[in-house]
Amino acid sequence: RPLPAPKPDWLRVRPPLGPEVAGMKARLRLHGLATVCEEASCPNLGSCFREGVATIMILGRVCTRACPFCDVDHGRPAPPDPDEPERVARMASETGIRYLVVTSVDRDDLADGGAGHFAEVVKALRRRLPSVGVEILVPDFRHCLDKALPVLGTILPTVFNHNLETVPRLYGRVRPGADYRHSLSLLSRFSALSPGTPVKSGIMVGMGERRDEIEEVLRDMREAGVTMVTVGQYLPPSLKHLPVERYLTPSEFDEIGAVAKGLGFHAVESAPLVRSSYHAERLLGA
Ligand code: SF4
Ligand code: SF4
Repeated sequence: RPLPAPKPDWLRVRPPLGPEVAGMKARLRLHGLATVCEEASCPNLGSCFREGVATIMILGRVCTRACPFCDVDHGRPAPPDPDEPERVARMASETGIRYLVVTSVDRDDLADGGAGHFAEVVKALRRRLPSVGVEILVPDFRHCLDKALPVLGTILPTVFNHNLETVPRLYGRVRPGADYRHSLSLLSRFSALSPGTPVKSGIMVGMGERRDEIEEVLRDMREAGVTMVTVGQYLPPSLKHLPVERYLTPSEFDEIGAVAKGLGFHAVESAPLVRSSYHAERLLGA
């Protein structure tokens, strides 16, 4: 395989340093918690931790699926840890976090896909830190949506987020265990069930999708009741992962953002370093 093209300047970031970053990392380790921010070496870690925003991973670090763009281990996960909700809540109150994104690997091994555990984590957070904003970034519950949805409908998170990740034509390559129409139906069924909760989704670009396909996805999202969207550059975690097709320029991201605004999204983040949880709290106030 040819070596990837060097990263353009707009994708270079300074390493995350500073006392807030070190303090947050120490608290996370103390409570045995993992973040996507660290595991995925997110380029925004410094700015997010300094703003009191993080994306925590619940339900373990082993996924039942194996998407080629993702760096999470796959295999047979351990059962959910009943102490985890309290540990997340304690970490959040000790660090004074303002906005926590709670996400998980896919748990196709659990009857409700982990929905009940999400509910417990949000409850524990609200008990201990009532002011915290909680966004849940959920897997697709592909084999258990009828079981998971009624539980999800009781959670009332600050934001409900599920990423479509890419255009339907590339699902076979990028999300082999997932189904585009199913993910859309999760978004639309949740919107109908919990009409007061903002629904968010996102895609990565630079994987070989065309502009018209991106626009189609944005239209599908709006039809499914999505009002908040993120669009960011795909960056492979290593040479073993799905290669990047190309780096979109910042002005291309602006154009996509303008299309999204034109389609009526209330909140749009479209830029090279945008991740699903990037500026999550600010985006809510957009
Ligand atoms: Fe973490 Fe998301 Fe911020 Fe990245 S963008 S550091 S994953 S909260
Ligand atoms: Fe990674 Fe999610 Fe795919 Fe699992 S389902 S491999 S966590 S992207």
